[in-house]
Amino acid sequence: MEIKAILILSAMLFSVSFFIHTFIIPNDQSYNRLDFMPALALLYALTQTLLISSVNAFRLIIATLFLGYVAMRFLSLKRINRPAVALGLVLTALFFGMIYVAPQLPISWLNTINILLGTAFLVLSILQQRQSGKKIDRELSEINIVGFIALLILSLSNGYYMLNVGAGVFCLHQLAELVIYTKHDKLERTSVSTRLAELENRFDRTVEFEAKKRTSVMADKIEHIREKSQKDPMTKALNRHGLTSEINNLIRDPSIKIFSIAIFDIDHFKSINDTKGHIVGDECLKFLSYTFMVSNRKTDMLGRYGGDEFILIMPHINAPAALEICERMRGLIQSKSVPKFTISMGIGTYPYDGRAFTSLLEVADRGLYKAKEGGRNRVAYDGNVFIKNETK
Ligand code: GH3
Ligand code: MG
Repeated sequence: MEIKAILILSAMLFSVSFFIHTFIIPNDQSYNRLDFMPALALLYALTQTLLISSVNAFRLIIATLFLGYVAMRFLSLKRINRPAVALGLVLTALFFGMIYVAPQLPISWLNTINILLGTAFLVLSILQQRQSGKKIDRELSEINIVGFIALLILSLSNGYYMLNVGAGVFCLHQLAELVIYTKHDKLERTSVSTRLAELENRFDRTVEFEAKKRTSVMADKIEHIREKSQKDPMTKALNRHGLTSEINNLIRDPSIKIFSIAIFDIDHFKSINDTKGHIVGDECLKFLSYTFMVSNRKTDMLGRYGGDEFILIMPHINAPAALEICERMRGLIQSKSVPKFTISMGIGTYPYDGRAFTSLLEVADRGLYKAKEGGRNRVAYDGNVFIKNETK
């Protein structure tokens, strides 16, 4: 009765192990499917044992188990190839043959067969482990030694006591195998998910880095294009387009209540060009632009309106203050320029002289004309704001 219980338990464990090998543990080792052979053999021989209650039939269990294992190990060594499959088939045929032949065989024959097959199984196990080098295979092959010992005890036993011991060890072997598979499966899954998370992280960081890099390159390019499209290449002042858009921005900006513009040009510039040449003329334009850009506040803006005409934009500056600033600049140009030249300037103030660029420019232009008319090298205002003691 105890033997039967142990055998049933063993068979159940074996079947579970087979099920896990075959369906749950994902691998590419299709030889594992051959586990069905020992499992089937065990179940078959078990029924035989229970039915005829013969020790001989019990020996058969062991023989068939070993056969199945040998076939399995052999296939795992060679992977799936034709000779291996052929051998597997021969072994399967042998195993089915033995089920019928074994009851007639003398016990000593069966013992010899079992020892030979068991040894073959063990040797193949070790070879497989060496070939694979995987931790799981090493552990399984170590456990196989326990299985081998269990089966030898079972095979060589001639009393129920020994059969009990053998079957118990065999159960232990099956349990250990289950533990190993479960452990490695779990490890594999954990390492795969850790690796995945790591990769995901690295991917995110790379994408973020690339995006930042590209955005900054794009921003630089956009800035470059914007500068190019809004700046005069020779004098580095805003071009006419940049100038217009900056003044319109100020007009639209609700925080800007007042600002002034000054239009100015070089006096008798034509004669500088004529007497000293255009290259010197260009240098005069560059000097003029540079001096205005470095001598004014950061918020002030300078633009080249065309030819030798420039416009200075002065946010938050009213007409009297603009006159003062322009007077200072006029003096600076007069004293510092080489070759010596002078400028004339006209002023317009938002919103008193106009709420649009064109009307402001008209007033400023009037001032410039007034300055030229008044004898040049001076600043003039001809707008709506009353100015006390207007200079020159
Ligand atoms: P005014 O005092 O009335 O302003 O006399 P002006 O000789 O300066 O007369 P105007 O302003 O009309 O002449 C501008 C001259 O500027 C005409 C043109 O030859 C010269 N000019 C325009 N653009 C450039 C430039 O980029 N380089 C040089 N060298 N000369 C320029
Ligand atoms: Mg001029």
